[in-house]
Amino acid sequence: MSGRIGRRGFLKAGLVGGAGSVVLAGCKDNEREIHKVISQLETPAEITPGRATWYASACTACEAGCGIHVRVMDGRAKKVEGAPDHPVSQGGLCVRGQALVQALYHPDRTGGAMLNGAAVKWAAAQAELKKRLEAAARKGPGRVALIGPGFPGALGAVAEAFTEHFNGHPPLTWNALYTPNAPEPPTPEEIAGIGAIVNFGAPLLESGKNPVGWAKAIAAMRSRPGRRGLFVHIGPRMGATGAAADVWVPAKAGRTSGDEMLLDVEGSIPGLMGEQVAEAMGVELDVLLSLRGKLREAGTILSVGGDSPWTGGPHYDALRHLADHVASAGIDVLLHVGGNPFQRAPKLMNSRNRQPAFRVALTSRDVDATGADLVLRTHTTLEDWGSQKGARGVTLQQPAVSPRWDTRGVGDLLLAAMGRESMREFVLRHHAPELKEAGLGFDQALGAGGVYTSGPSAPTTRHAHGRRSQSGDWTLLAYEAATTGDGRLAHTPWLQEAREPISGGFGPTWAELSPNGAARVGAREGGRVRLTTQGGALDLPVRVHPGQRDDVVSVPIGQDPGGPTDPLPLFARDGLTAVKIEALA
Ligand code: SF4
Repeated sequence: MSGRIGRRGFLKAGLVGGAGSVVLAGCKDNEREIHKVISQLETPAEITPGRATWYASACTACEAGCGIHVRVMDGRAKKVEGAPDHPVSQGGLCVRGQALVQALYHPDRTGGAMLNGAAVKWAAAQAELKKRLEAAARKGPGRVALIGPGFPGALGAVAEAFTEHFNGHPPLTWNALYTPNAPEPPTPEEIAGIGAIVNFGAPLLESGKNPVGWAKAIAAMRSRPGRRGLFVHIGPRMGATGAAADVWVPAKAGRTSGDEMLLDVEGSIPGLMGEQVAEAMGVELDVLLSLRGKLREAGTILSVGGDSPWTGGPHYDALRHLADHVASAGIDVLLHVGGNPFQRAPKLMNSRNRQPAFRVALTSRDVDATGADLVLRTHTTLEDWGSQKGARGVTLQQPAVSPRWDTRGVGDLLLAAMGRESMREFVLRHHAPELKEAGLGFDQALGAGGVYTSGPSAPTTRHAHGRRSQSGDWTLLAYEAATTGDGRLAHTPWLQEAREPISGGFGPTWAELSPNGAARVGAREGGRVRLTTQGGALDLPVRVHPGQRDDVVSVPIGQDPGGPTDPLPLFARDGLTAVKIEALA
């Protein structure tokens, strides 16, 4: 029982509760104001006041889907830890996973639904959504669109069923630097046979698909008795991944000449690796020759990464697709989940002179609801049902606590619009085959955190491809900081205050320059620069450090998503972004 009650109510509650414990919140003119009364006699069976309960679940703060254990006391989530037996994270958890508790209890959160700026009851909001969706579906195919940063596991199946039900466009996932083919870490069995890992620009330890798993895989490769593996990072920015590497090769943005370099190391094309490759990569010949010697000595190479947004800018494919679709066919109802494409890429989304007729924001942060006609405030990870499915099994996400506010789960809202079951029931049905195969009941699987397999994650050799070359004096690089990632939890105080491990930056977005690069434009640590691209101009504070090439300026994209220092609008919609830099007085 919770809520604010008066003295009379308190006495009554105390009598009813008998052994109830009481939280008093200060005195005013001898009048005690009671904020909360907890009756031990009425406490749910799974809660023992003063004693912690742990719930297994899944982190959804990035695509890795680490298994988590949530410590709950008196109905409140206190702490998140990595699940020790989880095949992806193996007990590890990054700072974003830790911040899930702060996302849940964030002071700006609230509940309920809003229609055209006015609060409405959930029943009315959901009825309005259903009416709009059904009207759009009746008009013909492709009039409904759903976009979000990712629809993992069972939620992905719900999203597909939803768009199909309403005759809509297939679900679109947009996450500025996420690529679906991001490399998974090798398994312990694979690690045993690898002499070196060569990474072409992928942010393995900061973001990507599984930072915690990669950290463990690299540590395992290095701690083999008598045979320490070699880890090489090739890319224009060192980042946390390059800092952890034995060798960082600061190659040009967007072009790594990966195939040529690896073929040369293998001896397939003798003499190919030389001045041409060094020139294409923008590094000294000596650096490459030294690397070749080390790699030949190391033996079997696992190569990962390659041409991707990691070595350049964000990718806008899903948004471009959506914008084209809005312009050509018209969208009657657009639902955006957990992020606002109109804020992150405003020029692109507003470029076609047509807008969706009715916009719906499903979000736990009101900042993502700007411009929406209907706002449906949603659960955070620790309050919701879902799952993550990967090569190593299914991780089940269950609510560790009751909803803090009057919110709904995204899956529940989509299912309700279709007139279907709850998300809990959907998760159970969706994963029934895996549960059956493992011989586990739903409750058992929830207690175990999921159903895991030990199969290999991916092929052991993945060659890289260089496609786009850096041109012009300066290139603007986007990266996800190990702290704020793509920005979905950037509003939490821990992540706002956590320093990016390489540049030491925190708070609103900054621009990083190497010492030589800063000297070239007359910029200094703590000063400001103006970055101008075809997408616009942005003034940012400068951080100077040597962890990048002299001809790039890098900016984190997750510090201020949709805010005044969000750099995403600066980036080209295709290829690398040329940028002009001016030091400001
Ligand atoms: S890597 Fe971090 S953010 Fe991603 S799922 Fe694991 S704990 Fe969560």
